[in-house]
Amino acid sequence: MIICKYCQEKNQPVEKTCQKCGNDLLPGETVQEKISSIIGMIIVVVIGWFITLLLTKYFDLGSSIVSGMIYTIPLLITLITIVKIIDSFKETPDYIKYITRAERHKSKEPIQALSDSNIAIKLARSKNLFTFFSGDTTTIPLYKMFLSLCSELEASNLSLEYKLTLMSIAFDIVAKEIIKKYQEIINSVNKEIGKLVNEKEYAMIGYCTRCNKAVVLVENQKCSLHPKAIISNIRIIQSANIDDSLVLLYEEVNKKKGVFTETEIKVFLLFMLFALIIIVIRNVK
Ligand SMILES: [Zn+2]
Ligand SMILES: [Zn+2]
Repeated sequence: MIICKYCQEKNQPVEKTCQKCGNDLLPGETVQEKISSIIGMIIVVVIGWFITLLLTKYFDLGSSIVSGMIYTIPLLITLITIVKIIDSFKETPDYIKYITRAERHKSKEPIQALSDSNIAIKLARSKNLFTFFSGDTTTIPLYKMFLSLCSELEASNLSLEYKLTLMSIAFDIVAKEIIKKYQEIINSVNKEIGKLVNEKEYAMIGYCTRCNKAVVLVENQKCSLHPKAIISNIRIIQSANIDDSLVLLYEEVNKKKGVFTETEIKVFLLFMLFALIIIVIRNVK
């Protein structure tokens, strides 16, 4: 459930706008918030300059180095403010929208927070070129939040809904760290889910990379036709919704096509680097 920021109405996770007040359910910083933070910064700049000018007017600061240094602080603040103002014209990145919403749901709707922070982790990874060679520093706080949410929920009585969400997320390729840390819970939940699947109440579906479509998975999360194929986007669903879920999963996977994957970008960059080295070597000779 998504709780509306403006009217506190509960909305289904699939809704884009609030069913009661019509506001966006995934808002970035609003214009009001942006303007108020810019005004705040401008006030700091004005006060900073005022104090600096007062100091230089009424006190003899002696050498020119000291009087030069006193200008660095207000100059720096001014510079930062200008950068921030330019930055505020840009749209808030999607992963920040999701992480903000996850923070907001932490205590009220933990399942929503879990799923939002998972989306944030994925978006932050694929969108950020700077962090991807340096061990993605932007996603570390996201992971910390995710793991702290997991332990909070672990301490509370585990609901089936929570277990299913955690399992679906853990199966995603991006969540390898989570699998490692939560191996024990996952094993026990796996058994429980196996039981549910056997009782035909729940089913496991995933995208088979050899069938090129969403399939119902058999034991050990495998495709029945291709036991060795890689399965992505594994979901645990109620058996009653199998057909709809297969269609949704297929659409989800195929929407991603056309965008370069991290591996493709890395290979391309390595190739460019290699070409550059060859050009340099040839020119030196
Ligand atoms: Zn609302
Ligand atoms: Zn297959």
